[in-house]
Amino acid sequence: MRIVLVGPPGAGKGTQAAYLAENLSIPHISTGDLFRANISQGTPLGKQAQEYMRAGQLVPDEVTIGMAEDRMNQADAAGGFLLDGFPRNLAQAEALDGFLREHDLSVDAVLDLEVPEDEVVKRIAGRRTCRNDSAHTFHVEYKKPQAEGVCDECGGELYQREDDSEETVRKRLEVYHRETEPIIDYYKSKGLVVTISALGKVNEVTQRAMDALAAKAA
Ligand code: ADP
Repeated sequence: MRIVLVGPPGAGKGTQAAYLAENLSIPHISTGDLFRANISQGTPLGKQAQEYMRAGQLVPDEVTIGMAEDRMNQADAAGGFLLDGFPRNLAQAEALDGFLREHDLSVDAVLDLEVPEDEVVKRIAGRRTCRNDSAHTFHVEYKKPQAEGVCDECGGELYQREDDSEETVRKRLEVYHRETEPIIDYYKSKGLVVTISALGKVNEVTQRAMDALAAKAA
């Protein structure tokens, strides 16, 4: 299956993507994670992306689309994948369609995670992320780790992402409404969108997502 996950920052895309990809036995491809890996390795691509990310803006399409295509061309993605954070605007959605068409493929479903805006800001401003694995996330109020600053799952160091400050979150939300929301209508016109609420316990949301994808495929 080829699935696109959309939803505002803080909807829990990264968390859900990790579980869904495992359940569906397909790789989880996160452009945010790919950029962060490039930044921590100090690659030229990471250097290009860093300033945009810090400001809560989109990294230019020339950089992003090439990086996403390289990842989708890897062997483990031949049988399907779950895209998280890509496409993020109409130009990227059209590029993805073009890329898949060249391989006689298409997107099978678009899973849209809905969450109210004030909840998003609360979730992100208190979020702490593990340096070893971005799917390991905690919250200073709602999901405290047992030992402060240490990941319960793997012992990794917890940190606050540079773009998780309240000011940058508001900027990211603005960019989401302007640039990313239009792709939902684009995919709706193709009959691909399933929308679910992202509120509730993590495993409840995963179950809701699995049920919605199964109903879509039936
Ligand atoms: P979130 O979904 O919580 O905003 P991500 O980790 O997906 O977090 O993305 C963080 C940042 O990485 C974005 O604000 C943006 O600067 C950059 N980024 C990620 N994916 C893309 C993309 N497809 N196009 C452009 N920029 C991107």
